[in-house]
Amino acid sequence: MFSQKIINWYQENGRSLPWRGIDNPYYIWLSEIILQQTRIEQGTKYYEHFVKEYPTIRHLADATEQQVLKSWQGLGYYSRARNLHATARHIAHDLGGAFPCTYKDILALKGVGRYTAAAIASFAFRLPYPVIDGNVYRLISRLYGIYTPIGTARAYREFEQLLGKLIDTQRPDLFNQAIMDFGSMYCKPSGCDCDNCIFHNECVARQTGKETLLPVKQSPPKTAERYFYYFDIRWSHPADTRLVHLRNEKDIWHGLYELPLYEAQTPVADKSLRWVCDERMIEWFGEKPSHIKVGPCITHQLTHRTIIARFVTVNYDYAPSKIPETLLQIHPDELKYLPVSRLIDRYLSEM
Ligand code: SF4
Repeated sequence: MFSQKIINWYQENGRSLPWRGIDNPYYIWLSEIILQQTRIEQGTKYYEHFVKEYPTIRHLADATEQQVLKSWQGLGYYSRARNLHATARHIAHDLGGAFPCTYKDILALKGVGRYTAAAIASFAFRLPYPVIDGNVYRLISRLYGIYTPIGTARAYREFEQLLGKLIDTQRPDLFNQAIMDFGSMYCKPSGCDCDNCIFHNECVARQTGKETLLPVKQSPPKTAERYFYYFDIRWSHPADTRLVHLRNEKDIWHGLYELPLYEAQTPVADKSLRWVCDERMIEWFGEKPSHIKVGPCITHQLTHRTIIARFVTVNYDYAPSKIPETLLQIHPDELKYLPVSRLIDRYLSEM
């Protein structure tokens, strides 16, 4: 009854999205990876850009990593873009360009978790694997009065078992799209629309007044702080020049460009910042700059880290005689073509 009721609702009220009603696993995969990072409105723009720029998996495989990172710019979590690219290459080169068509083989792809594998398997190949995301946890925990803390392996097994019984095996694509849409449109995190909900008579949370207590969540992990001091180093003789650095360590923003960075273990007091800057410049270039301007402090939130970034503009009258090999000299106009983190993009666009 549940699946029939929710599919009926979906057929009349479901959202029309560019990756719905299609069975191209490549496009479905693209949409799912992008939507892990952002909301539907912004995700649609990225999806349309990717489909236009890389219309087939071979186009994506043939692109350079820098091109893919540039297309991804602004979405964050750049390892997802690198996985997307690596997986496209794997499918194009090792699997003859054919997207895997079983749940197990889809799940084996780099960067594909159980949610994404279930979404691709059900939307593209009509395989009865239920998707379980935040919307589904919320709707099902309220509807059935389940108090197991979500985000745990135990909860995943419990919800998967229940949804395995509920899913419409003939129309798993519609079933999955329906519960995702319904959860986000009616059974919202706060202010759920119980009065107009088609399940208000059978919903356990509604009947017991526990809508706001479900789902039970584990306390989130503490976010660590990191202190980034960026130096926007420039000179105009003999030519207009800015310096950038390619992040190639195993760390956040791998493969992206940024301004030369000094990372401190603890925050640097304002009065010490000029001194720290002079010291860095002497270490890198063997000489002090002609002018330093301490700029804005920007707080940038990542999933498990908070980046406290400070930007310092550093001017030299002439190009220093010694420049570290790790710093790349570019013309200022070239900056906009480089893939950069959202933090650097924010700084550059607000300058
Ligand atoms: S009645 Fe309210 S809490 Fe229950 S499923 Fe509907 S919207 Fe969610």
